Amino acid sequence: MKSITTLDLQYAHRFYGFKGEAQYLHGHTGILTIEVEDSVNEGVNMVFPCNEIKKIAWETLKNFDHSLILRQDDPLLPAILDVYEKQGIKNGTPTNTMKGCAFKTDLATAYPDCRLVVTKETMTVEGMIKIVYELLKDKLNISKITFTSGVNAASEEFKPSETKDRCPLCGILMNEKGVCPKCGYKK
Ligand SMILES: [Zn+2]
Ligand SMILES: [Zn+2]
Repeated sequence: MKSITTLDLQYAHRFYGFKGEAQYLHGHTGILTIEVEDSVNEGVNMVFPCNEIKKIAWETLKNFDHSLILRQDDPLLPAILDVYEKQGIKNGTPTNTMKGCAFKTDLATAYPDCRLVVTKETMTVEGMIKIVYELLKDKLNISKITFTSGVNAASEEFKPSETKDRCPLCGILMNEKGVCPKCGYKK
């Protein structure tokens, strides 16, 4: 069975080099749906608590919210960093508090201090799905990701890994010692 959660991401981007309107900088509210598949954990009668899926995903995906997403070869990138530098906000400000955990994968690097994500490929809805799967595949048994942004939508299905060991009392992942990090339940 599946547990499904949805997150909203507000971001600015452009398709550098694309022959169409999207080559100009613009913004979206994107809706990301993550489907997690596993056996039903009988203790709690759930596959995985949806708020926990959201929490795990949000730790890194927060980097895409109220952010600017640019491809690594986009000439806007040095131009924007130059403005941020001159304005003294490149390395963060006290009011930039809703920061995600910095990450670096083959497809994307997040700079939470200046709310910037630099991508290897153009950040289309398809590109975003590849980035998100890379970030979360080891943390969640993802079977499907859907991303919609404006009139664009894409989805991809994945083969979830083997069943994960979850706490029968609160449903979250047991740690490597077989202890629930949330409620302390031990097998
Ligand atoms: Zn767009
Ligand atoms: Zn527990």
